[in-house]
Amino acid sequence: SIKGKADLVMVYHRLPYEEAVEDGQLVRRPHTSPNGILPTLMSFFGGEQRGSWVAWSIHDPRQGRVFEVHTKVDDERYPNLVAARVALTKEQVDVFYKRFSKEAFWPTLHTFWERAIFREDDWTVFLKVNRLFAERTASEAAEGAVVWLHDYNLWMVPAFLRPLRPDLTIAFFHHTYFPSADVFNVLPWRRQIIGSLLQCDYIGFHIPRQSENFVDVVRGVAPVEVLETQGCAPRFLTYGCAVGLDNMTRTMAVHGRHIGLGAHPVGLDVGRVASVIDEPECQAQMQELREQLKGLRVVLSVERLDYTKGILAKLLAFEALLDAHPELIGKVSLLTICVPAAREMTIYETLLAQIEQAVGRINGRFSRVGWSPVQFFYRAFPFRDLIAYYLMADVMWITPLRDGLNLVAKEYVATQGLCEGRGVLVLSEFAGAAAELHGALLTNPHDPHDMRDTLYLGLTLGRAEREARVREMFGVVQHNDIKRWGDEFLQAVKDSRREGEAFL
Ligand code: UDP
Repeated sequence: SIKGKADLVMVYHRLPYEEAVEDGQLVRRPHTSPNGILPTLMSFFGGEQRGSWVAWSIHDPRQGRVFEVHTKVDDERYPNLVAARVALTKEQVDVFYKRFSKEAFWPTLHTFWERAIFREDDWTVFLKVNRLFAERTASEAAEGAVVWLHDYNLWMVPAFLRPLRPDLTIAFFHHTYFPSADVFNVLPWRRQIIGSLLQCDYIGFHIPRQSENFVDVVRGVAPVEVLETQGCAPRFLTYGCAVGLDNMTRTMAVHGRHIGLGAHPVGLDVGRVASVIDEPECQAQMQELREQLKGLRVVLSVERLDYTKGILAKLLAFEALLDAHPELIGKVSLLTICVPAAREMTIYETLLAQIEQAVGRINGRFSRVGWSPVQFFYRAFPFRDLIAYYLMADVMWITPLRDGLNLVAKEYVATQGLCEGRGVLVLSEFAGAAAELHGALLTNPHDPHDMRDTLYLGLTLGRAEREARVREMFGVVQHNDIKRWGDEFLQAVKDSRREGEAFL
């Protein structure tokens, strides 16, 4: 292999540490993100394997400062890992990462294509940034290395990388929902995007439905020869759920190229959740909440402010519940934790105004002295506090109109499971996690009656059934943890490469 080059190249939009400019100096600190993806991806570099992590870093050539491509990540824990940075100007990051991805791709991927804004100029910037990522990756990788690309921000990297490095195994994991062909084909650049993804050797999605949607989109661009299919049960729900599917394509050939496909729902670091529960601050927070919520049934809702998350539909359904079951007035509260959107966009401002109006109306209608039906928290909570809320919730109510997976659902299950809780998960059947968490009560967020009635069922379910459901789901979350996710993905990539060689 090329000396000193990486055998595994991780290509992720974020660096494995946080960079910030403070007093004109670039400072770095560890990531604080609660989900275990970053640590898991880094854990592949704990041993002998030489690795490189390609990500962007803001650099303004006009300031005349020298840009260092390579930085160390953590010499003690990952001595063989370097970060290889792609220098982008703030304007490029704003267009590629914040504007274009959020305005064109995010809505389309989540089936809200009428909200998408397609700008040809932005696409040009997107292409340029993806080309820079591909060039950096090409210069990092050893002969025959595995390159693992993450998410739709990097859709065009394979197109630029393949001609530079035909020897590489290129794998791609899609972290969001992937819509059906009817929706995806709206994208003006669908042929380029699919053409690029077809340069991969292996492509992973959370659940079979998303993978099969991708195959359908490919069929609209090029003839697909299905080489191998696989039944999806028992790991995934095959019916009774909007995202269920009974059979999926495992390998296909397109224009003579062999491409492996797989369903790999991201998991949790359950050990980390357990250690957060044991922290004295978390215990204290639980104690305090327990006092404050004494005598109340708690329905909890946690999500980012986003139209895909179905917050408004949830509020209306809660209002309908109180109308239909006045006996719950004064007894049940809905706690809504809503994390502000990363960017000020009119679309989010309008949604926030609608939510605040609905909260105001419901509270105005039903509040009593000492009790209000909805408590709305518009801020991000530290993971430790969130865990305390998970533990206190009788019902976790997660109702996205469309969601790639939904980690909050799994975090709730893990917390309840670890603490021998009996909480009920009411989950939208349009969330990827619905295909995996068979013990959830599934609900259709587009159907107000179903939303109201399934929440009512969640609040009235018998103890034995609640226990059984938590136990079943906790087993799934514990077994399919984040470590297994990473290991299985990389193993599938390697197996697929072997099959691909045999295919030629
Ligand atoms: N989260 C958090 N603080 C909050 C609310 C959420 O740290 O106040 C975290 C939560 O623990 C979860 C993540 O944000 O890990 C949200 O992930 P999910 O897959 O549910 O949704 P996404 O925002 O990625 O669409």
